[in-house]
Amino acid sequence: MVDTMDTFYIDPIYIANKNNINVKPIKSKKTKGTWLGEIDLIDDDLCGYIEKDNSGKTTIYYNPNHHENRQRFTIAHELAHFLLGHLNENQKEYRDFTNSFQTPNSDQKEIEANKLAAKILMPEDKLYFLIYKKGITSVKELAKIMRVSEAAMEYRLKNLGWIR
Ligand SMILES: [Zn+2]
Repeated sequence: MVDTMDTFYIDPIYIANKNNINVKPIKSKKTKGTWLGEIDLIDDDLCGYIEKDNSGKTTIYYNPNHHENRQRFTIAHELAHFLLGHLNENQKEYRDFTNSFQTPNSDQKEIEANKLAAKILMPEDKLYFLIYKKGITSVKELAKIMRVSEAAMEYRLKNLGWIR
């Protein structure tokens, strides 16, 4: 069943590119340790960031070491910061560590970005179709089809008021 549902997942990179935003993996800053050889210095806790350079070009970077679902959520979350107008003259960069994605979150901008990211990756009409027309009611199955984590799917369905 999942195979025929491939078109149901959203590509956040495509949407970012449509908004003139480049999306790139964070580059590993490989370095030579004296005994350890090459080590990868990407902070595992860093999910991604969005930055606007001096020429006005906006780029989203994501941690390529994370699970694909997490990478997709990170990209959608950074895109949400952009779409919500969080980037401005005073704030040219957002850096998101794993705590940005946690709920509850005390930072209002992070809450907004998470909500919009969830809407981007899990549009209501597609979810409605899957649940009410196709009869797929398992959170696990829905998450698999839309290529998001089960936690993200649960959060979205709760926000829609479809589950408690
Ligand atoms: Zn954020």
